[in-house]
Amino acid sequence: MEVAVVTVGNELLAGRTTDTNATWLCERLDDRGVTVERVTTVPDRVGDIARVVNEYRAEYDAVIVTGGLGPTHDDLTMDGVAAALGRSLETHDVALAWLEENGYDRQDLASGTTDLPAGARALHNEVGVAPGAALEDVYVLPGVPSEMKAMFETIADEFEGPPKYRATVVADEPESALVERIADLRDGFDVTVGSYPGESVRIELESTDEETVEEAASWLRKRVDLV
Ligand code: AMP
Ligand code: MG
Repeated sequence: MEVAVVTVGNELLAGRTTDTNATWLCERLDDRGVTVERVTTVPDRVGDIARVVNEYRAEYDAVIVTGGLGPTHDDLTMDGVAAALGRSLETHDVALAWLEENGYDRQDLASGTTDLPAGARALHNEVGVAPGAALEDVYVLPGVPSEMKAMFETIADEFEGPPKYRATVVADEPESALVERIADLRDGFDVTVGSYPGESVRIELESTDEETVEEAASWLRKRVDLV
């Protein structure tokens, strides 16, 4: 399964807020065997949100959008997603009923709180107020990290792929010195290889076959200076 993650917020693009939601979602999706093909951040602007959602839903199995839910002027994500899917925004009766059952008074909710794209399935917000939505493989989650995480867990089962196995080899050599051995490794084994230099070089091997990745890692460990 291939997924795109879209995070929405001017504050993310200005560097005022670190995009921890994207990192967290990538990790959880990866845990479930899902490949994240894109992470894109867009401003709080309906046209930009609609454009990436449209592009990515044509390309990938699902799109997860976070941020920009709620009643303030800059909460435009539902409008953007509705535009992308050619739907109107409508008060969602199930979302409203759920909030009422959970102690909220309809009169006290800010206007538009339960407006979701027509036909969407409401995703309840166990931690906050604003509901999320799922429609045609587009999932809309809140931006507040605790709310986003709790809501993702309610839909986690809808994201799955073959388990991936990984091994890490840490080499105490310059990355440039390792080029040939990494090429031989890639020729000899059906693994994907990532090379991440820092003080040492972290070489990460990945495969959907556990034995292959272990064999490749032990081959490489015999051929590099280990830390
Ligand atoms: P919003 O969803 O835009 O109303 O934002 C609600 C809160 O969540 C704000 O404090 C945001 O800065 C924060 N937030 C929104 N998106 C993210 C994100 N991708 N990573 C971390 N925090 C976020
Ligand atoms: Mg915002």
